[in-house]
Amino acid sequence: MSEVRHNWTKEEVLEIYNKPLMDLLYEAATIHRKQHDPNVVQVSTLLSIKTGGCSEDCGYCPQAARYHTNVEGNDLMTVNQVKAQALRAKESGSSRVCMGAAWRNVKDGEEFDQVLEMVRTINKLDMEVCCTLGMVTENQAQRLAEAGLYAYNHNLDSSEEYYKEVISTRGYQDRLDTIDNVRKTNVTVCSGGIIGMGESAEDRAGMLVALSTLNPQPESTPINALVAVEGTPLEDEKPVEIWDMIRMVATTRIVLPETQVRLSAGRTQMSREGQAMCFFAGANSIFAGDKLLTTPNPDVNEDMKMFKLLGLNPQKPFTKKVQPQTVEAKDSKLEALGEKPKWTRPDHKIERNEAAKQKGKALKV
Ligand code: SF4
Repeated sequence: MSEVRHNWTKEEVLEIYNKPLMDLLYEAATIHRKQHDPNVVQVSTLLSIKTGGCSEDCGYCPQAARYHTNVEGNDLMTVNQVKAQALRAKESGSSRVCMGAAWRNVKDGEEFDQVLEMVRTINKLDMEVCCTLGMVTENQAQRLAEAGLYAYNHNLDSSEEYYKEVISTRGYQDRLDTIDNVRKTNVTVCSGGIIGMGESAEDRAGMLVALSTLNPQPESTPINALVAVEGTPLEDEKPVEIWDMIRMVATTRIVLPETQVRLSAGRTQMSREGQAMCFFAGANSIFAGDKLLTTPNPDVNEDMKMFKLLGLNPQKPFTKKVQPQTVEAKDSKLEALGEKPKWTRPDHKIERNEAAKQKGKALKV
C-alpha cells in the first residue's frame, strides 16, 4: 500500500505536477492500481435542491445573487421531488446523490428539517447521500449524520493565498472549520477545488498540500475545471487545457492515494480520450446528469457509452464504508440549538468581483 503522507510541501507537490507527463502518469497509475480497482468508477448525481439567490461572492459562481447571470432561482425542492430524481438517478447507474443548496451556511429551522428528511429518504433507497449546504456547525453535522448522511462536500476551492482573489465574503479558515465539524461525526468528507480561475501551478500545489494535511485526508476530492459563466467575475477566463486537468488529477492521486478523485465540472469540454487519460491517471468518480447544479454536463447515456467503450463499471454503493443508519425525526435525541455562529466576513475587496457586482446592479435596474 502507498504511504499516506500528511507532510507534503508545496515544492514537492509542484515537482510532481511538473514531471515529464509519461513519468507522472506511470507513477499515478501505479499508485491508483495498488489502492483502487482501476476499472471501477463511482457515478454520482448532483441535484440542485435550492438554486440561486446566494449571499456570497464566489467569483466562479452564477448562483451568487450579486452577479447578473441567466440562472433562475428556485425555492427548496420538496422531499417527493428529490425522491423522484434520486430514483431516476439510481435507475441510470448512480450510487450517490449529492444535494446542493445555494446557502452561505445552514440555518436551523424548517428548511434544514426538510433537508434532513431528504437525507433519510435517499438513504432508505440504499444510495449514498452527500450534501453541500455551505458552512455547518458541529451540531448540524451531527444531525445530518443521524439522518443517514454518507458524505458532506465543502471545497477548499484553491490555495489559501489564491482563495482571497476569488471570494471575499468568508475566509479559508471557515472552510477548514466546517470540515473539522464534519470530521467529528461519522460522515465522510468530500473536499476539492477548481482549476482555471487564473491561479498558478503553485496555487494548485498549495491546495493539494492543504487537502493532504487534513488528517484523515478527505475520502473524496472533486477536481473541477472552471466553466466560465457570463456575468460572473471569472467570465473571461480561458477554458482549462486537458493537459492541466490530467496533471492535476495525477498529482491528486499521488498525494491523496486512498481518496476517490472525482472529475467534476468541465467534463463537457473534455474529449473521451482526455477523460480516459484522467481515469488512467487516477480519477475514479464522475458526476452524472445533464446539469451540475447550473452548468452543463454530459448526458448520462453518453457516459454509459463511454464506460462500455473503456470497459469501466459503475461502483456499487457502500463499497468503501458501510451504510449509515437512519434515525427517524421522532426518535432523534439531538435538538436544533438555533446557534448563530460567527463565520468570518473578511474585509478585503476583490476588484473583479466588485466590477461584476456593479454590472449586475446596473442590469437588474
Ligand atoms: S459557490 Fe456556493 S456559497 Fe459560493 S456563491 Fe455559489 S452557491 Fe453561494
